[in-house]
Amino acid sequence: MQNKVFRAFLLIFAIALMAGMVTACAAPAAAPAAAPAAGGDAATATTEAAAPAASGAPVVGIVLPTKDEPRWIQDETRFKDLLATAGVPVEILFSQGDSAKEKANVETLLTKGIKVLILTPQDGAAAVAAAEEAKKAGVKVVAYDRLILGTDAVDYYVTFDSNAVGAAQAQYLVDKATGTGNPLYLYAGAASDNNAFLFFEGAWKVLQPKIADGTFVIKNSSEATALQDKAELTRDELAKIIGQVTTNWDPGTAKNLAEANLTVATAADKGNVSILAPNDGTARAIADVFATDPDVKSYVVTGQDAEKASVQYIIDGKQSMTVLKDVRTLAADAIAAATAFVNGQTPEQTNTYNNGKIDVPAKPSAVIAVDKDNVKAAIVDSGYWPASDFTGLQ
Ligand code: BGC
Repeated sequence: MQNKVFRAFLLIFAIALMAGMVTACAAPAAAPAAAPAAGGDAATATTEAAAPAASGAPVVGIVLPTKDEPRWIQDETRFKDLLATAGVPVEILFSQGDSAKEKANVETLLTKGIKVLILTPQDGAAAVAAAEEAKKAGVKVVAYDRLILGTDAVDYYVTFDSNAVGAAQAQYLVDKATGTGNPLYLYAGAASDNNAFLFFEGAWKVLQPKIADGTFVIKNSSEATALQDKAELTRDELAKIIGQVTTNWDPGTAKNLAEANLTVATAADKGNVSILAPNDGTARAIADVFATDPDVKSYVVTGQDAEKASVQYIIDGKQSMTVLKDVRTLAADAIAAATAFVNGQTPEQTNTYNNGKIDVPAKPSAVIAVDKDNVKAAIVDSGYWPASDFTGLQ
């Protein structure tokens, strides 16, 4: 079913892009210069065009944050799956966690004459300069998964419902908790990523009433404890908590923070614990730390991204849940938006996200909570990952 939709979509995309490219070729402007070497060496995946007009120059440029996290390799793979079939001239570059490299990557793609830039900013505020350069060059800018903040140089936002991700994580902790006084450990993503705020905000709305009624007791954040009577937090308040419990999206940082938290916690602050971990990479690191503490009798830990390693952790009972954000949908939405822009149309919009400057049109996708009970149906039977990638799957 999903395959059929993709195939139909790819066909429309190929035709639409070819039409767009013919128009672009007829126009006198934008003769692509020879590609400079700068910035593009991290990882380049150019899908050569089958269409004669393309001459190998990318029409769509994609800049992703890092190859060091499986999440973004997933995106690259899903983009390639879509684009290889369509024969679309696309170039994908990685920024390796570095905003300067990200900007150089964008400049490389602009020099090559792209019409649409799909960008996942490393840092939502630092990406403004690159987005504005693209806008000046007449290129449409699509923020991919992470919003670009504080500029009008973003035309569209392709995203999952990130508030719903945090809410699903928190709801899982609530559903698994029994009685009162359950020790709660909070962790967050990188403060430079707007999503970290959306995830935490979504989680807080679900957790806060359960902190207020005594189900949970926060153990590792004095900032969160100070705000525990507030149902809704301002951005500044969220920033205070995130600043204290950030993993910076880095498993090493997450591990160190979890160790530091457990070192100062008493045995009474441990026992059967609930852990809000922001994504799979950090969840595995945090889970490994809690698993080795003799005073931790059991733990429930969240995640997101359905990374293969975390799916295996769920099967093995080492991570409790993940949130599946089907990257096939996100990549398809991004390409649909790019196609619309190439053809002078407006991509489908169901929502807007304020980036501090403008309301950015968006069409957020739904997410699915996955644990041991539905892992086979949600991950394997859906075709997201093959069964052969896992052991012990029932
Ligand atoms: C993404 C997550 C990812 C995290 C770390 C967030 O912006 O939405 O899927 O795990 O960044 O890369």
